Amino acid sequence: MAVTAQETHPVDACVQTAREVFGGLATSAWDALTPAEVRRLLAELGRLESQVSAHKMAAARVLDKARQAARDGGRAGTTATSTGSTISIDFGGDRTGADALVNTANRIEEQTSHTEAALAAGDISAKQADVISRALSWLPEDVTEDQRDACERTLLKDAQKLTLKDLRARAQRITDAYKTSEDDVDADEDEQLRRQEEAARAKTSFSMWDNRDGTHTGRFTLPEAQAVMLKTALDALAAPHQKVGTVNAATGEHDEVGFGQSYPQRLGHAFASLVELLPADRLPSNGGVSAVVTVNLDLNTLMGGLKAAGLSDGTRISAEQARRLACTAQLVPMVLNGRSLPLDLGSANRYFNQSSRRAMERRDGGCTAPGCDRDARWCEAHHLTPYSLSGTTDIRDGALLCTFHHHRVHDQGWTGRINPHDGHVEWRPPGATTWQRNHRWRP
Ligand SMILES: [Zn+2]
Ligand SMILES: [Zn+2]
Repeated sequence: MAVTAQETHPVDACVQTAREVFGGLATSAWDALTPAEVRRLLAELGRLESQVSAHKMAAARVLDKARQAARDGGRAGTTATSTGSTISIDFGGDRTGADALVNTANRIEEQTSHTEAALAAGDISAKQADVISRALSWLPEDVTEDQRDACERTLLKDAQKLTLKDLRARAQRITDAYKTSEDDVDADEDEQLRRQEEAARAKTSFSMWDNRDGTHTGRFTLPEAQAVMLKTALDALAAPHQKVGTVNAATGEHDEVGFGQSYPQRLGHAFASLVELLPADRLPSNGGVSAVVTVNLDLNTLMGGLKAAGLSDGTRISAEQARRLACTAQLVPMVLNGRSLPLDLGSANRYFNQSSRRAMERRDGGCTAPGCDRDARWCEAHHLTPYSLSGTTDIRDGALLCTFHHHRVHDQGWTGRINPHDGHVEWRPPGATTWQRNHRWRP
């Protein structure tokens, strides 16, 4: 059969036409519409997006099948990459998005009968289609074809009125589409959650790698419950980062906590704080090897010198970082004398205990740095004299500081003291000629 050069495949023709139509429309054209028209058309655009999604899924499936066939045929060089990585370049390099598209496309084909048609018609979104196909894949094994069909139709109908989160919750109880007993539906939901949790445990993983620039990057997959716990803890640690206007007496500059940082950056710092908060001394030992990281530092460094320190695995850290970490108790300092021999400085009472910490909270109210507004919950206990020398955890030797100011105090070498008259903490940042205190908590 002769094919003329003008004849194009319907898919090609459709895509080209749509591209041309959109290409000919300036985004500024929306400015001339009334809000009511914009809302209606925005909803229509959403439906269009769903229709496009259905075709992207069909395309991904064709590529995936071709790859499978090539692999089964034993063709060389075809097994190394997944379909997701092959098409990720078409997703702006988004490998995760490309993998998800292939997975969803395959699951929809295997699990559903009407969902793809609903997506192609623009009645549901790609995310809703994903939720529905997952729900059907979790149905009890003894489900009949008719019951399955009833479940799918119910979910397609409910998708029209529920939010995505509610649709997920609805999907967990979908066996009520054919079961009448509430107890049976409860049992199915429980069974489904149990299987989901088991699958989540199997998928749980963590990896991190050294960027060789003083940072490490990681990737993890956590079961939902633990992920919620982690997110809640990070949000709590990142939350009260208001702008803090501590004026540095020497430079006249403002120190601002969390100001100008993006949300991911704040979460990153929260994560770093969380790691420092781990009760390393109470973690199980790894075949007799303690979970506590030791820092080897010179006595001179502990007292304010500039010589860098080493962690037990050989990692080098700055003198400032070593002193700050020695304060927060999550590192055991191994203090060396001038000839690199360990000094026994006593570690029986290394940390401020619960009651001295409470007493400090009562005395200081919050961060003792002048102008800081972080309350006691967000503070670390700093030792005014390096504790292993004073050998005391007396609160007259401690001061509460938020993480930011704790870094500052060590980093810039602030001098701190307890005022001999009223017993409150005072600071002299470098260049300052007078003692300053935080009047927010104590007038
Ligand atoms: Zn400190
Ligand atoms: Zn502070």
